[in-house]
Amino acid sequence: MFLVNFVVEIQKTMVKTPKNIAVIGATGSIGTQTLEIISSHPELYRATVIAAGRRVDDLIALARKHRPALAVIADVNKYSVLLDALEPLGIETAAGEQALCDAVCRDDVDMVVTATVGYSGLAPTIAAIKAGKDIALANKETLVVAGQYITELLAKSKSRVFPVDSEHSAIYQCLDGEDRANVKKLIITASGGPFRKWTAEQMANAKASDALKHPNWSMGAKITIDSATMMNKAFEIIEAKWLFGFDGDQIEAVVHPQSIVHSMVEFTDGAIKAQLGLPDMKLPIAYALGEGKRLPGAEKPLRISDYAALTFERPDIEKFPCLTLAQEAMRRGGNSACVINAANEIAVAAFLDGKIGFNDIYSTIIRTLDAMPYIETPGYADFVATNNEARMFATSII
Ligand code: NDP
Ligand code: MG
Repeated sequence: MFLVNFVVEIQKTMVKTPKNIAVIGATGSIGTQTLEIISSHPELYRATVIAAGRRVDDLIALARKHRPALAVIADVNKYSVLLDALEPLGIETAAGEQALCDAVCRDDVDMVVTATVGYSGLAPTIAAIKAGKDIALANKETLVVAGQYITELLAKSKSRVFPVDSEHSAIYQCLDGEDRANVKKLIITASGGPFRKWTAEQMANAKASDALKHPNWSMGAKITIDSATMMNKAFEIIEAKWLFGFDGDQIEAVVHPQSIVHSMVEFTDGAIKAQLGLPDMKLPIAYALGEGKRLPGAEKPLRISDYAALTFERPDIEKFPCLTLAQEAMRRGGNSACVINAANEIAVAAFLDGKIGFNDIYSTIIRTLDAMPYIETPGYADFVATNNEARMFATSII
């Protein structure tokens, strides 16, 4: 079972315009870029719902600009501020996690862009799939936490999933028109992050400000730290497994410091197809919004002659042990990846707060993984419980 169809020809002819989009995580890096694409193409897209976590002032500013039908803030304590600002404009408002889940199911939503960060993406994505909405999936943690569960849910729904993550968008583009039987391997590129050339000793003393300096991509804080530990690449291997339906041992990560080749597919005849572009999320976001249809001018053109060399190297798992957690999570199965995700969220927040060192992120995850009860076939209630317990345990050992 796999989530992304290889042959997208039928889908390409079915794109409804203008398409009504719900952007959850609207105030973030992916969310704001998504809204920029939407507002540049009113003939194609309309933002009917926008939602955020806590930054109510940013959400209000976006609502004033994009005029959605509904704006939702997850933090209920910010609701009165949102209401006071948007009621005079005739924009509906709501607050809380349930409101977020209800918002993505509305009749005036065709596609949901899941641009929230971390575990918070799971519940609204499930609600959207149950309501038959298409998903432009940025929130990879949804598939990390509950890949099997989401896959089964999708099999019973008319929802389709379009990857936003640049590596998965690249693979999706490389697979277009191909027979999956001819696929040998998915090769996911990684920049190597800010610590690629640091020694293990230097990394032990790395500060949050060092880890937040991503060499190529401008992203939210959590994914930037995940890139520095290479946890992001582990998550992307798991994400690829569920999106494209290949075994974990058919998916590998390769370090490509220039971030120009966004990922590759190797075929049984020896051919390798790659998708190249500048490190800019506009293209993959636009490709997902368009259901695999290209949007001219989505990002600045890449002048390939500007690059004297594109280099590739094997990742150093001694220095970046978080990368091994992908295979470990897939080997253990069940609720293991949910535990890893929860412990990682707590550890990353603690590192950003200066409470633990950079290398403690991995040890926090491993200790939590070993301590949590294993559940072989988790349902939604098990994910909620596992997430809560793993977060509590990880917090207790920090
Ligand atoms: P940001 O931190 O920039 O933005 C996160 C967004 O999620 C904000 O709008 C935030 O709202 C919102 N949010 C946080 N908590 C909640 C909650 N409980 N309920 C509802 N909304 C919430 O993250 P990014 O845009 O960088 O990343 C978003 C997702 O996309 C992640 O899963 C990431 O892995 C993935 N991704 C990101 C890429 C990038 O280039 N940034 C590339 C590929 C994937 P607020 O700020 O108001 O609290
Ligand atoms: Mg990525």
